Amino acid sequence: MATKVGKAEGNHHEAPIVPETAAAADPGKIVIIGGGIGGLSCGCYLQMNGFQTEIIEAGALPGGLCTAWRRGPYVFDGCLRWLIGTHPSSAFYQMWQELGAIAGREILTYDDILLVEGAHGKTLAVPADLDKLSREFKHIAPEDTALIDQLVRAARRCASLEPPLDNPVELMTLFEKMRMGLRYLWMVPIILKWKNPTLPTYLARYRNDFLRETLLAMAGNERMSALVLVMMLAFRTRQDSGFVAGGSWAFAEAIAGRYVRLGGTVRYKTRVVSIKVEHDRATGVQCADGAVVPASTVVSCADGYTTIFKMLDGRFVNKKILFLYQRCDLFPALIQVSLGINQAFTDAPHTLSLPLLRPLIVDDQTRHTRMEVETFGSDSALCPEGKTIMTVRLPSRCEFWTHLRKNNRQRYRAEKRAIIREVIRVLDIRFPGLAQHLERSDIATPATFVRYTGNWQGSYEGWLPTPRILGRRIPCTLPGLAGFFMAGHWVVAGGGLPSAALSGRYAAQTICARDGKMFATSEP
Ligand SMILES: Cc1cc2nc3c(=O)[nH]c(=O)nc-3n(C[C@H](O)[C@H](O)[C@H](O)COP(=O)(O)OP(=O)(O)OC[C@H]3O[C@@H](n4cnc5c(N)ncnc54)[C@H](O)[C@@H]3O)c2cc1C
Repeated sequence: MATKVGKAEGNHHEAPIVPETAAAADPGKIVIIGGGIGGLSCGCYLQMNGFQTEIIEAGALPGGLCTAWRRGPYVFDGCLRWLIGTHPSSAFYQMWQELGAIAGREILTYDDILLVEGAHGKTLAVPADLDKLSREFKHIAPEDTALIDQLVRAARRCASLEPPLDNPVELMTLFEKMRMGLRYLWMVPIILKWKNPTLPTYLARYRNDFLRETLLAMAGNERMSALVLVMMLAFRTRQDSGFVAGGSWAFAEAIAGRYVRLGGTVRYKTRVVSIKVEHDRATGVQCADGAVVPASTVVSCADGYTTIFKMLDGRFVNKKILFLYQRCDLFPALIQVSLGINQAFTDAPHTLSLPLLRPLIVDDQTRHTRMEVETFGSDSALCPEGKTIMTVRLPSRCEFWTHLRKNNRQRYRAEKRAIIREVIRVLDIRFPGLAQHLERSDIATPATFVRYTGNWQGSYEGWLPTPRILGRRIPCTLPGLAGFFMAGHWVVAGGGLPSAALSGRYAAQTICARDGKMFATSEP
């Protein structure tokens, strides 16, 4: 059976034809598992559309991975560095407006993407502007001019790319899909050319070592598709990304506030252990404290692996889902070292990639020869005037840290101290006086991220955009299970705050369509 409804006005969008898989007449509440950005977004949009929802969140605060922690006068940010959608012309900006996420706070944007320092005193400030970037790259690597031109050309073409906000692809009519296909037709040659080579394959074509090192430092992970480099340059050149003053805390709390004002409720410190299923329909959730919360629909915005294989015992899977969870790569787990320094470093670049003369060993297998340092001054609203925060993030093996924390707490602490000491030693050489003025230091390991957010293998952004996964649609429903949806970074390859929030919006749109409702949005 299908439902079709007519055209609406204002912020309403025409609801497409969708199979009616749920009891549209059931007025029961929708339970959302997880109060990260995906869950909060889904909750906001469902509330905007007249649904009664409740978010059940294991932690004590909203935001999930989008979080921060206070140490004395310093707020150490565990997430936000750059947010896509800070320019009013972009589709993501519209979404952040609807969610009240930026709430008038200042956006810090930078002319440079990062400063890369080489082993022999070479430096390169990588401009966000593609014309300037092209000039700088050719200046240091004239022998790679042809490759630089190709890269810049591809990035320039992708700079206007916007996600479809009107409807997720699954809800589009054939006509809408064809229209979208035509709109993005020009992308096909770019995808064909850039998707399949991994970064090392692509970068091997460059003759200049320092440029190769720079491009890898910019992309951050060598298992990714070369297309990621193109997209990253495309997003950065259009000045549509920046740091929102107040950081992750202010950002998450703003959306959580919007959700509550829209009439939603959040049950904190409550872990969902299983999803109740009757006759292949989700009917509620069972919490660790024994409570059973009935629901007309369940949306899981918690970790994908836990949802599918633990909360639902792996009963609703197909080849596509098994392929994802058995064969696809994840963003790695991270160690984050945060330092609070009682001194302003006004000349420090906001993002610096430093070579390490002595490799930094962060677990039983991983050694780093570069380190990326983020610097936040008082303009970030994370520390007072005259003070600085520096953070260093280092990919590390999750299992090493979770095992150590569980089985040998003393060694776990000793390993953490050793890494902090080494980071301070390196940074004190680069920023003389840092160690002397250091007031606070802190380290979060992959075990910390797992403990606080439950993300599978400590992944900080879900699926890594490798050639294997790019271009695949990750389903937000499970085969054979009605009344159930997923949102958050586990249903979007490439993760990140905009993707998590957009997937929450898409889930709300899908539920509206299912129930024959016009999807409506509003702004605070
Ligand atoms: C160090 C770091 C830096 C990052 N930098 C950026 C950046 O600069 N820009 C950007 O766009 N993105 C960045 N990201 C990625 C971004 O934070 C994530 O992709 C995004 O926040 C994911 O949101 P989510 O809602 O999908 O998942 P999560 O944030 O993981 O939220 C899931 C929520 O579900 C809860 N939960 C889990 N299990 C249960 C359960 N059983 N019962 C109840 N609740 C449960 C968790 O507590 C959590 O609150 C960064 C991430 C990290 C870690």
